[in-house]
Amino acid sequence: MKVTSYGAAETVTGSCHLVETNGHRFLIDCGMFQGSKNLNRRNYAPFEFDPATIDFLILTHGHIDHCGLLPKLTRYGFSGSIYTNPATADLLSAMLMDSAFIQEKDTEHENRRRERRGFEPREPLYTRDDVPAVLESIRRTEYDSSVEISPELRFILRDAGHIIGSSIVQLFVTEGNATKTVIFSGDLGQWNVPIIEDPSIIPRADYVFIETTYGDRLHKEPEPRKESLFHHIKETYERGGKLLIPSFALERTQELLYTLSELIHEKPDFPNIKIYLDSPLAIKVTEVFHDHPEIYDEDARARKDTPFKFPELVCTPKTEDSMALNKLKEPAIIIAGSGMCTGGRIRHHLKHGIWDPRNTVLFVGYQAEGTLGRHLLDGADEVRMMGDIFRVKAHIERIHAFSAHADRDELLGWIDAFIEKPKRIHLIHGEKRVMESFAELLNQKGYETHIQVAGIAVELN
Ligand SMILES: [Zn+2]
Ligand SMILES: [Zn+2]
Repeated sequence: MKVTSYGAAETVTGSCHLVETNGHRFLIDCGMFQGSKNLNRRNYAPFEFDPATIDFLILTHGHIDHCGLLPKLTRYGFSGSIYTNPATADLLSAMLMDSAFIQEKDTEHENRRRERRGFEPREPLYTRDDVPAVLESIRRTEYDSSVEISPELRFILRDAGHIIGSSIVQLFVTEGNATKTVIFSGDLGQWNVPIIEDPSIIPRADYVFIETTYGDRLHKEPEPRKESLFHHIKETYERGGKLLIPSFALERTQELLYTLSELIHEKPDFPNIKIYLDSPLAIKVTEVFHDHPEIYDEDARARKDTPFKFPELVCTPKTEDSMALNKLKEPAIIIAGSGMCTGGRIRHHLKHGIWDPRNTVLFVGYQAEGTLGRHLLDGADEVRMMGDIFRVKAHIERIHAFSAHADRDELLGWIDAFIEKPKRIHLIHGEKRVMESFAELLNQKGYETHIQVAGIAVELN
């Protein structure tokens, strides 16, 4: 049996692993590279394998760095089944259509620039027309049920507790008269976060491929997030202002809505205020959460109300409804994308509200260097947006949100839960230096490790 990683090897994004055994060739994930220009360029390079020779694919979850190249894969000849959890299946249409739309828009923009410089126009990576073929190939696969591909190959998806529908893949491969268990962790979640279950613990494995995003970091104790959210709502309300929350469409927005609906129930002094969800993608993703109560953890299931649909919540999918929010006189909470203010409707709300000292801009997620969100958090007095300069007079605040990834000790704990030490732990989905430090920790504990290198096949004997 052979495994070759084509992405998420010494890097975090572009997750894609080819498994070959007994004449089967299949992929785990086919994600997009995200981040720097160099990484982005890798999305345009031809696949290093022929997509037409791949029998099937197992998709761990709906983040674009795991599923974002599926339309390209089918465009270049892949015609097998895509096995994934039903909640992920429901997310895919929204996530891939949104990604395709961004590809089309970005290419249009880029081509205008190329034309001015006398360069040939470029094709988009894929378009919305490529998405239906992906959706038609999906085979909905429940957690904990065995899927038999052949007498020598079967697999089970286990809850990875990372985002809705996220899976760990447990492969059972028979070669000769021995059956080996190989585990791909997918992205592993943190323990004790709202809405979803904790990651599944698996007792036995011969080989483990584990993500190492935070293999060198410990998450601080989450601050009383709910209380600080409430504090910012009240303060902004008392000033007669708007609370603008730039938020990521998948998981973070739903965590916010979940917490907001809790606050409305628990706090008699919660202001009489409307909450606008002003992001077409986040609205669609929230529908998927609403439709899949089977993925909720015990606390979420115990709730008597519907945490993602409540009277104070107003969804504004249409552009004209979004624009009407700019004329709103009374205080309001507006949740809009993108999470780092690099695009999307939040920029319009900032344009209409960043100069008003009654307002608050509240960050609930990581802000990468070079983004507008980061500039604001770093205390910029003015910002440039949409060809204009704006004074920053609104209050700029942040809440350290839960991370969707397990930290170093949680990853170690997950590995230590194997009853017998696996033969080898393969490190994927992390920056090189993080992988090296995590590998060293594992070696000290007596584990054999291997850092996956892109394009180099490893034998699992
Ligand atoms: Zn992920
Ligand atoms: Zn990932």
